[in-house]
Amino acid sequence: MSEKVRVRFAPSPTGPLHIGGLRTALFNYLFAKKNGGDFLLRIEDTDQNRYVEGAEEYIIEALNWCGIPFDEGPGKEGNFGPYRQSERKNLYKAYALQLIENGNAYYAFDSAESLDFHRKDHEEKGKTFIYNWHNRLKLSNSLSLSKEEVDAKLGAGEDYVIRFKSPQDEQLILNDIIRGEITIDTNILDDKVLFKSDGMPTYHLANIVDDHLMKITHVIRGEEWLPSLALHQLLYQAFGWDAPKFAHLPLIMKPVGKGKLSKRDGEKGGFPVFPLSWNESTGYREAGFFPEAVVNFLALLGWNPGTEQEIFSLDELVQIFSLERVNKSGARFDPEKNNWYNQQWLQRKTDDELAEIFIKDLQERQIKVDFAKVKRVVSQIKERAVFVSDFWNLSDYFFQRPTNYEEKAVKKQWKEDTPQIMEEVLEILSGITEFESSNIETLVKEWISKKELSFGKVMPPLRLIIVGDMKGPHLFDILELIGKEESIQRIKTAITTLSN
Ligand code: GLU
Repeated sequence: MSEKVRVRFAPSPTGPLHIGGLRTALFNYLFAKKNGGDFLLRIEDTDQNRYVEGAEEYIIEALNWCGIPFDEGPGKEGNFGPYRQSERKNLYKAYALQLIENGNAYYAFDSAESLDFHRKDHEEKGKTFIYNWHNRLKLSNSLSLSKEEVDAKLGAGEDYVIRFKSPQDEQLILNDIIRGEITIDTNILDDKVLFKSDGMPTYHLANIVDDHLMKITHVIRGEEWLPSLALHQLLYQAFGWDAPKFAHLPLIMKPVGKGKLSKRDGEKGGFPVFPLSWNESTGYREAGFFPEAVVNFLALLGWNPGTEQEIFSLDELVQIFSLERVNKSGARFDPEKNNWYNQQWLQRKTDDELAEIFIKDLQERQIKVDFAKVKRVVSQIKERAVFVSDFWNLSDYFFQRPTNYEEKAVKKQWKEDTPQIMEEVLEILSGITEFESSNIETLVKEWISKKELSFGKVMPPLRLIIVGDMKGPHLFDILELIGKEESIQRIKTAITTLSN
């Protein structure tokens, strides 16, 4: 039996989750669920300087809001915890020492000033300083110093780091599920720091050790980690461990121009780049997006189903997702299209669901209405909405009498004989006992033809005085919904207001 698929999302809690991070989480989730595997959340918080209060809670809330909860992680302990690296910090040193013992790592004592000096010196000569086989023997480390000197330094409590000893003159073949084979010349690799004397591992060491201990089978992460892949593969080799499979997801690009999508693009373009609000930045949730829409547009940022289909539920995505269909090239972020997805998902919601959200908005506006009416209004207007927050502008006249009338429309529709015609409409409406759309329509139309009037003389001005504008759905439906009394009142009010 093949081993169980286990993937992890491993953010550093340095701020709110960017939409790109959320996509990484989503692809991990989809891959895990498609393959009957586990989706883990691991918090990579070894860099205490960059730790931001509240970021971990934010990440968890964002995953839950999207409907992609993790199976194991902080607060959901499985057999591989703890899931915060800061709580695992005591286990990493032994691994760093193991690499020193087997000749794959070494102590280095160079001070920041000394490294700075070498960097500048190289720059002046038009070269780049790389701490590796080129010059490691000229620097202060356990490869260049004698065993006694090293022991003395360690004994005296001098600051040190443990560096990986990257190999010389090797062609390293890396495999990425999305990008295929990549060959790297190890001579360009630097001897990355794995561990610091403050007792903390760096990202590289902690990440590899934890992926191994947590039995991760596939590492799915953003393209920005591709340059670390060579080191990671070398680390697996150095430990003698089987490496997981790797898949690096394409970057998410700005809506226009070159480069990665940034927070600034969102500020400039007036669209969110975070799933939930964070300080003064509005999130997708608060901007009125449905999680289904966010999941849908994120899934198509870099992945394609191979068909024309654009709308996918999370369950459908789980069925058909595959890493092989993830593109290599950057995926352009399209805020307009994201709105379209929301509009599509809004149309798929039931009137009950939408009314439930909308009624809160109405209550905040101090408008008293019953649920049944809100539901019927919603069914009339939702077609034209992208967000539930559009509902009010599309439907205010259902809930309150117009206080003014659109000027151009008045000029065009309100003729000398209109008040007289409206008086007659008033009478017709007053006489209707069954105040229901099709019934009103039949009676009004009968009267129009009997009087040999044109529709243009009746319907547009009637809409103007009922709605305040020329917008809105079928006028007889509006009349039914606002009711007989209110319809009559609106006509009366308009006759007085507009005839003066
Ligand atoms: N902690 C890294 C990050 O913040 C994880 C990268 C990885 O998945 O290996 O994205």
